[in-house]
Amino acid sequence: MTEWLKKYPPQSMVTKAYEFAGEAHKDMKRLNGDSYITHCLAVAKTVHDWRLDETSVAAALLHDVVEDTVYTIQNIEKDFGGEITFLVNGLTKLKTFQYSSKDQNVENMRKLIIAFSKDLRVVIIKLADRLHNMQTLEVLPLDDQKRIALETAEIYAPLAYRFGMQRLSGELEDLAFPYLYPNEYEWLLKTVKEEFSERQIYANKLKPIVQKLLRENEIIPVGIDSRAKRYFSLYKKLLRHDMNLEKIYDLVAIRIIVKTVEECYAVLGIIHKIWQPLPGRIKDYIARPKPNGYRSLHTIVFSVDNKITEIQIRTEEMHEEAELGIAAHWAYEQIKSSEKHWKNWLGVRERKELLWVEQLRNWQKNFSNQKEFIESLKIDFFKDRIFVITPQNDVIDLPAGATPVDFAYRIHSEIGNQCVGAKVNGKVVSLNCELRSGDVIEIITQRGKKPSPEWLKFIKTSLAANYIKNALRAKNKLLLKKIAPLGIEFKIVNKDRPGYLKDITAAFAELKINIIFLASQIDQKSIFSTVSVKCGNLERDKLEKLLVKLKAIPETKEVHHKFGR
Ligand code: MN
Repeated sequence: MTEWLKKYPPQSMVTKAYEFAGEAHKDMKRLNGDSYITHCLAVAKTVHDWRLDETSVAAALLHDVVEDTVYTIQNIEKDFGGEITFLVNGLTKLKTFQYSSKDQNVENMRKLIIAFSKDLRVVIIKLADRLHNMQTLEVLPLDDQKRIALETAEIYAPLAYRFGMQRLSGELEDLAFPYLYPNEYEWLLKTVKEEFSERQIYANKLKPIVQKLLRENEIIPVGIDSRAKRYFSLYKKLLRHDMNLEKIYDLVAIRIIVKTVEECYAVLGIIHKIWQPLPGRIKDYIARPKPNGYRSLHTIVFSVDNKITEIQIRTEEMHEEAELGIAAHWAYEQIKSSEKHWKNWLGVRERKELLWVEQLRNWQKNFSNQKEFIESLKIDFFKDRIFVITPQNDVIDLPAGATPVDFAYRIHSEIGNQCVGAKVNGKVVSLNCELRSGDVIEIITQRGKKPSPEWLKFIKTSLAANYIKNALRAKNKLLLKKIAPLGIEFKIVNKDRPGYLKDITAAFAELKINIIFLASQIDQKSIFSTVSVKCGNLERDKLEKLLVKLKAIPETKEVHHKFGR
């Protein structure tokens, strides 16, 4: 259990942390009777196996000290210094998050965890902690089991997936599965068991054939193995396929690992030459990686005895990334040589919802060495967004610099309009104060109150701006003049014809809009002429109606408008 610890010299932070944690937790037992330090060691070993830095391993050993023992964060700071303290502090804070199925905003919850952590290593250590908690979940009371399993499936497994830590993500889901859906789990085990072993035997039969085939083509693979599909992901797939196991082609897949990208494609060609591919099922995740960075070639072929088999082809590097994801970064010693590899990994642009993970990846590639990279993880990579919390514990996502007024309008337009004050973390603040991630915000309202035009100077969201302007417009048209432009100027490009100007003025008249100025200009060199019209301010929908009318007039070519005097 502690064999791996010997890699760290006696004077290292890791050894010191081990001794400190051992002393701090010495009288504590876990529910299964193990001494508590076994948990700290398990978490730290996982972090060590993922090849995170020494600081992270030490923080993993200390992660439960502040919460569960008499020792404080000051004690840790004194013995271990700022960086480890920072990580332990982040891990202690994360414990206050509890997810319940009532929370609508799962995605925000995931982001919140990251934003709160401030350093990705905190999230990664947290994932290691969660893995061990799941592995030892059976001793907890039933209610806790369900809650923790749900939180794992909804929050932590997807987070791991986003980080490209596919193996961990699948493992967490599989550990949660029996607690979440005990009946389905049992049904699945019973149903697939035979099929699994049958296909495993078949896969083993294919291996030497593939080996020989590649050798004939002068490719020596680094490895050929088979991988069985994970239970939970299989279950989810079965749900999509009428619970019909016949339709699951990747129950057992053959995985071929080679040295170079060129070899990946060569192997694909060789395989397709002898076994026919299933049409439409060749997936090139090398050219187009999955949003979480996953790269590999997948194909489904009719192989020996015409059986349908999935084959995955990838390089060692891709394999490592698929297993370790973001953590794999620490494993690369020569970052420079992998610059190209980051570029490939970064190639996906289209998925907006994954932008934040991408931001992260983009970020990584700008660092030339590991130290710099780790340094960078401390920066809040959501520097443009903040996450604040309502008294009901809902998470609200706002742009950086947002104020209580932006928050109030985000909750409800009337709460915004009637807002007279705000409390942040229980303290009264001014309405223009800048909110920060993690703040709990309470809005004080007064019935019948109207918004102040002053607010427009400090708010950050257009949502709030629109509501405020509308409310002010209703309240006082004079005020509006101060904040809104004083009229609209139209330039209408047309092909001149008799009666055209009359049609223009008629369009304004129908909508009861006063024309302040009208001029027509005919350019001799051009076949088009331009009519300029000015009128006073218009409400949005009136303006839209007018634009539609103007465009509908025969021989109108273009209508431009701008706000001004
Ligand atoms: Mn723990």
